[in-house]
Amino acid sequence: MHGLRHDVPLPEGAPGNEGESPSELSILRDVLRLLPHGVTVQDEHGRVLLANEAAAAQLEIGADGLPAHAPRRETASHALHSGRAVVVEESLEREGRRKVLLTSHRPVRIAERNLLLSSSADITEQKTFEDQLFRSAYYDELTDLPNRRVIEHRVNKLLQTGGGPGFALAFLDVDNFKHINDYYGHAIGDALLVEMARRIGMNLRTSDMLSRISGDEFVLLLYPVQGQEEVAEFIRFMLERIKAPFFIDGSEIFASTSIGVSLYPEHGTNYDALRHNADLAMYRVKNTGKGTAAFFDASMEREADARMKIEQSLRMAILEKRFCCAFQPKVDIRTREIQGIEALVRLRDDAGVIQAPGSFINLATELGLIDELTHLVLAEIVKSIDLINDTFGHDATISMNVAAKQAGNADFMRPFARSLEQTGFPKRFMVEVTEDAFVTKTLFHDEILPLLRKIGVGISIDDFGTGYSSLSALADITADEIKIDRSFITDIHERPRSQGILRAIESLSEALGMTVIAEGIESHEELAYLQAATRIRFAQGFYFAKPVFLEDLRGSTPLASESRARPASRQTQETRTGYSRAPRYRR
Ligand code: C2E
Ligand code: MG
Ligand code: MG
Repeated sequence: MHGLRHDVPLPEGAPGNEGESPSELSILRDVLRLLPHGVTVQDEHGRVLLANEAAAAQLEIGADGLPAHAPRRETASHALHSGRAVVVEESLEREGRRKVLLTSHRPVRIAERNLLLSSSADITEQKTFEDQLFRSAYYDELTDLPNRRVIEHRVNKLLQTGGGPGFALAFLDVDNFKHINDYYGHAIGDALLVEMARRIGMNLRTSDMLSRISGDEFVLLLYPVQGQEEVAEFIRFMLERIKAPFFIDGSEIFASTSIGVSLYPEHGTNYDALRHNADLAMYRVKNTGKGTAAFFDASMEREADARMKIEQSLRMAILEKRFCCAFQPKVDIRTREIQGIEALVRLRDDAGVIQAPGSFINLATELGLIDELTHLVLAEIVKSIDLINDTFGHDATISMNVAAKQAGNADFMRPFARSLEQTGFPKRFMVEVTEDAFVTKTLFHDEILPLLRKIGVGISIDDFGTGYSSLSALADITADEIKIDRSFITDIHERPRSQGILRAIESLSEALGMTVIAEGIESHEELAYLQAATRIRFAQGFYFAKPVFLEDLRGSTPLASESRARPASRQTQETRTGYSRAPRYRR
């Protein structure tokens, strides 16, 4: 019987032996032989009487006539003896490759004999695909860690059983990951995440679980834990491991992670509350220096509520355009002439009180409201240009601050540059950016800078010396001006170290053809030092003038939109103090 197991003849009296013509029989045999499904017939002892080609390829049949695969033997014998049909999924290992069969066993009675008729479909491919789907639904492809669904499920399971002696949930966020990604590229960023996941996941027990819940965020479940001290100690070691440099693709990278921890049951009784509170603790760490860990406490909740309120009022203020600008002159320290002015945004809050940007700029940036705010500042400058000219002169440059995040974003900078050009006096503008903007060096250099250069807008590096890259940034970026941060200038006359740094910045800037401005001059002594010991020519600071509101100089002309009320007393005070100290302005 060609193609079938020839050592096993079809049983006497089996269908096909009666009635059919020899040609029909041979067709049937060929059909059986060529069926894509494996077909076998086994006797009451499980011996294979008949197997077609597909079955022979799928199964190993021993010399005793029994299938080598033990589970198949068991199911077959079970089906035979119970007399009931079964459908089973069989996983076979052949020549190192996994095969999955979907087999239906059907006991039949043929020619007075109890036989088992089995047919198997090869579903290996479908199974592999299902497995992949399963993995991608529950596991992170990059790090191979379980994803948020898995850890949430696991915590819920723990909670259902009472949570044992207690557990901890840690929320981890890699610090400045976006910088690292932008600076080194995504491939290295990815490799860093993998290595970071490995370091975080070291020394875990099988009952713990580490999960990657998004980009650079991980959630770690520590179960069981006896108390805060135990968790604190474990995390201390983990932070130490993370601190060591990462060597990736020839680069030595220093990275850190901020960690917030909540404990069950003290800090929440469900996954969402625990995760949220761990997140709040992590947020606190981010705002107080990064790279460490904190346990949740109730003050964090109050902080978050307060932040939420500010957020709401900030959105409202943007909607109602409740912003105005104060202007602070940049002064030539030899002649006391005003060389330019810097626009510093102010917010009038719900109660009508004027707020300095320190209280809202970062939040506005975080919330994606900063672009709109910057356009509002520009609109205000344009609207007040006559007053600006009357007050500070027609040649005074006008500096605007742009957040690092905006400066590296072509989608903001392109329309912004267009708006600057449309003012009709783009050459008077300077854009002040902090060094953080240069982290995405190539983008800034190749795309953003030419955009501004083309329309004649100057570039100024703000708060120099406090940022991410400092001196190295200077070598790459051709800026027109560099503003030395106030922290170097304060009491400069009695701080030899700052004097040294100042000299270094000064000579470097000179070599690169950049104008140097000293920020935050408050005292005569500071000014006297600059004049005597440096060649720095320009300065800004309360000593010369505090930021002023134009409308206070020309009481009758409101700067703000007509609907805007004249803000409260702080404004006038800001102005008065400024001008009493600077009697020698041009106007
Ligand atoms: P900045 O650009 O470095 O501006 C200088 C800041 O120092 C201003 O604070 C100014 O009032 C203050 N200042 C000037 N001279 C002195 C001094 O002698 N002593 C002291 N103690 N402070 C002095 P302000 O107005 O609160 O602004 C803070 C920061 O907010 C600015 O720092 C700038 O980074 C940001 N900012 C202001 N306006 C805008 C804006 O329109 N957009 C963006 N993105 N950021 C802005
Ligand atoms: Mg500035
Ligand atoms: Mg500054």
